[in-house]
This record gives sequence, C-alpha cells and structure tokens, in this order.
Amino acid sequence: MTFENIEFREPLVYAVKHKNMDVRMNSRSGGFFTSISDLFINDGGVVYGCVLDNNLDAVHMRATTQFERDRMMGSKYIQSNIGDMFKKVRYDLDSGKRVLFTGTSCQVAGLLNYIGDDNSKLFCVDIVCHGVPSPKVFHNYIQWQEINMKSKCIGFDFRNKKEFGWNTHIETLNFANGSKVNSEIFKNLFYAHQCIRPSCYSCAYKSILHPGDITIADYWGIDKAAPGFDDNKGVSLVLVNNRTAERLFHSLTDIEVRKCRIEDSMQPPLEAPFPEPVNRSEFWDDLNCRDFGYVAAKYGNNDAIHKAKHMIKKLLRKSLY
Ligand SMILES: Cc1cc2nc3c(=O)[nH]c(=O)nc-3n(C[C@H](O)[C@H](O)[C@H](O)COP(=O)(O)OP(=O)(O)OC[C@H]3O[C@@H](n4cnc5c(N)ncnc54)[C@H](O)[C@@H]3O)c2cc1C
Ligand code: SF4
Repeated sequence: MTFENIEFREPLVYAVKHKNMDVRMNSRSGGFFTSISDLFINDGGVVYGCVLDNNLDAVHMRATTQFERDRMMGSKYIQSNIGDMFKKVRYDLDSGKRVLFTGTSCQVAGLLNYIGDDNSKLFCVDIVCHGVPSPKVFHNYIQWQEINMKSKCIGFDFRNKKEFGWNTHIETLNFANGSKVNSEIFKNLFYAHQCIRPSCYSCAYKSILHPGDITIADYWGIDKAAPGFDDNKGVSLVLVNNRTAERLFHSLTDIEVRKCRIEDSMQPPLEAPFPEPVNRSEFWDDLNCRDFGYVAAKYGNNDAIHKAKHMIKKLLRKSLY
C-alpha cells in the first residue's frame, strides 16, 4: 500500500463543477480532471491518462496539448493498459518537466513505487474505483453487438450523459452504418462484478485514504452534501489529501466549488471492496464456452443485476459488521 502522499487525517472534501458546460458534458462527473490537467498543460507540463483508442482498447497515453488531453476525458469502465507509461513519466521527470498522472488508485500506487522518493515534480490524481471490468468481456460484448447490427462498432460511450443525464447509466454504441444502440447490458455485467479483476475484491484503496495527491469521483449523495448544487449535468467529488494539493486546488479559477463534509459524501467504494460473487467461475465458464447472447441474457439483464445487488448488499453487510 502506498499512502506517502497523505498528510491529513481525513481529506478535505469539495463538490466541484467546471464553469464551462461543454467540458462538463464531455466529462463523466463535474469536469475536475480537465480543470487540473489544463493547469499542467498551460504551464508546459505533461499529462498522463486513459484514452479509448481506435480499436476500442483502453490505454494510457501521454499528452502535452489540450487536443491530446481531450481524448482522456470521460470514464472507460475497463482495465486500462499502462504500457510503458511509467518509463515515460520517469523520463519526463528526469527532463525537469512537471507531470500530472491520473488513473486508478492501484495504478497511482504502482507509479509512486516505481518512481521512488525523487518525485517533487510529480502530481497524482486517482479515481475512486468501483473495480475494472475485463477488456475480454468488453470485446466479446462489442463483437456480439456488431453481429446483431451487421456493422462495425466505431464508438462507445460507457455512460451517455448527454442524452440521458448524469444520474442514469446507459451505454451507447455507434456503428459504421450510421446506426446506434443504447443498452444497459455492459453496465449490468460491470455491476454484477463477475467480470472485474480478481485483485479488485481485495482492493487496498477502498477507504477515504488514497495514494493520489487528489482523489476524484462522481459526487453521489450531492443533495445531502451540497443542496441545490446538482443540475444532473455532473458534479465531481474532490478529496484533497495534502497541503501541496490544497494550494494547487485553490489556484484553479475555472471551477465552481462547495466545501463539504466527508460523512455526507460516503459511497460503497470509499468503505470496503465488493465481495467476489459466488458464481464468478460459472460466469467465466459460460463466457468461454457459450455464445455471448447466452451470457448477456443470464448475467446482463435487469433481473440478474437486481439479484446481484441484493447478494452484494448481504455480503457487504457481513464484511462491514
Ligand atoms: C473503472 C472506473 C471505475 C470508477 N468507479 C467509480 C465509483 O465507484 N464511484 C465514483 O464515484 N466514481 C467512479 N469512477 C470515477 C468517475 O467515473 C470519474 O472518472 C471521475 O469522477 C472523473 O470525472 P471528471 O468529470 O473529473 O473527469 P473525466 O474527464 O470524466 O475523467 C477522466 C479521468 O478518468 C481517467 N480514466 C478514465 N478511464 C479510466 C480507466 N479505465 N482507468 C484509469 N483511469 C481512467 C482518465 O485518465 C482521466 O483522469 C470510476 C471511473 C473508472 C474509470
Ligand atoms: S478496485 Fe482497486 S485494485 Fe481494482 S482497479 Fe480499482 S484501484 Fe485497482
């Protein structure tokens, strides 16, 4: 576990909305990532984050312009391939550049371990992370939808906020023949948890303490934490973990901010890892041996997700108390 960046007993908590509505609509939450990454790019620094490439693979990339950075906006709910980005971060730091690295808490912890103590020009933002679904499941799903639609999938929005609002979770697939599909199947598979990485069931970062200088999330519970702030266009929960981060946070001028309390801002991934579902191996056997349509009907429908949620709640209650 890597918690060297933490100076506060508990983080300072803020609700944040980017002042530019286009930024907010292209971001998963309130657009805090764009605000902080602009600060580094405008100062000649480098930003690392996750993009969905042309093959619909989630990969980490390096950006020095807003154009390159914009591809990192929005959540890709699959494991991102980190490639040789840690080496590139090392090279940028050795060249005297300021670096912003963004990713899951375990990616940030891995980077901090790799870089070691010589990291005064490195700033890390981690995301509150539900768990990462397997890219294999995602690609099997895409292939199945391509067969159904008789066309290649050329775009995937994991959570289409523009059409359905911030609170709703509907994915949208765009196809080469101009058609599109709105669906909840991949979301349901994600939330049923059989397809997330095994290490996510024992994630060390399911608490209010995180390895990043700043930690960001969707601000679930915003109505209680900052009444009147939500407009269903997205609000970021921002946890500030040390003094350097506090100074940097207060230098941002393109965001609207409300100070909040941690006890009004809790969500399950800030408390404990999700337990491994009892039918995880059955799911993987089905995925490897059966048609994806069978898997979608058995694990990706709304009934399956209600059952899974009920089971998760029961198991979580057991593990928390
Ligand atoms: C797999 C995953 C699970 C999440 N689980 C939760 C959760 O349980 N609760 C919650 O409140 N929020 C969760 N989030 C975070 C949330 O969805 C937003 O990413 C976050 O609030 C940032 O939003 P933003 O508006 O500031 O900026 P955005 O522009 O939406 O953020 C983009 C940022 O997310 C990073 N990112 C996107 N996809 C990935 C990926 N696959 N791997 C690593 N980094 C990625 C980019 O590098 C960039 O830093 C999750 C995100 C991901 C990717
Ligand atoms: S849940 Fe934890 S282990 Fe899994 S990807 Fe997220 S931070 Fe990493």
